[in-house]
Amino acid sequence: MATAEPVDHRYGPAVALLVIDLQNDFATPGGSLYVGGGEEIVDAVNAQVTAAVAAGSPVFWTQDWHPEVTPHFVTSGGVWPPHCVAGTPGADFHPDARVTGEVIRKGVDGADGYSGFSTRDPGSGVRASTVLGDRLAAAGVHAVVVIGLAGDYCVKETALDGRRLGLDVVVPLGLTRFVNLQPGDDAAAVAELRAAGVRVEPAAGCGRRAPGSPKKTPLPPRRGGAMTVGHRGVRGNAAANPGSAAPRHPRHRVHHSAGTVKRVDRDTTARDPRRPACPSHRWAGPGWPDAVRPIGRETG
Ligand SMILES: [Zn+2]
Repeated sequence: MATAEPVDHRYGPAVALLVIDLQNDFATPGGSLYVGGGEEIVDAVNAQVTAAVAAGSPVFWTQDWHPEVTPHFVTSGGVWPPHCVAGTPGADFHPDARVTGEVIRKGVDGADGYSGFSTRDPGSGVRASTVLGDRLAAAGVHAVVVIGLAGDYCVKETALDGRRLGLDVVVPLGLTRFVNLQPGDDAAAVAELRAAGVRVEPAAGCGRRAPGSPKKTPLPPRRGGAMTVGHRGVRGNAAANPGSAAPRHPRHRVHHSAGTVKRVDRDTTARDPRRPACPSHRWAGPGWPDAVRPIGRETG
């Protein structure tokens, strides 16, 4: 059952694909910081990777990679429930993800921040650059396509940093999902991206209204029958994520490497036939279980 993805002509050696944090704790139901529907974009992300590689685009994957104790976590005075702890299954990439190219790790040694381009010292607030900007400059890249998780945090901050570096930035909405701690966070993120000059592409092919786009006038109900509702709206995570235990997958590979950069190659072609045909229908919503609800203002 192949996923029919059109050839994407946007890629080429001067255009990099950045895949953000497609890791089990975010992208797998039951992950400790699960972004609702995150697993639904994996096939489409893989198709982008394939298209990018075929066109000669550099591909980079970011990987949240925290120590067990970090000010990033609520357990040490931070904001988020523990997630993506280095070497744990939750920190590994989604088992179906075709990870190829360079991996840029974030959060190493307790650093804070969301962007693939920069880190932030949680004590001093001082920001520092990851190697990503240098890599892109060395490769002559002038544009990036940013996909992955989550649209209102790491994807957004990576895209905004890309703009600050003078890059053309594209964020296709069908290739991300939003945390939506508050209803409307997705639309606010899209507005912020657009205001910064990011080209935000609506999810294609399914007619779903993109966050922040004008509402369509609804059709009147047909006489004599209920109107068919084609799309579910905001979906809460609580039902899909009753606990916060880290997922366990037999195909996880635990990466152990020093430093923040690691290159791996993997091409996993297995697909879950239960996935919906269109990955852009479902969004994360409010209603996080208390165990995973951030309890304060983000510091990153
Ligand atoms: Zn994190």
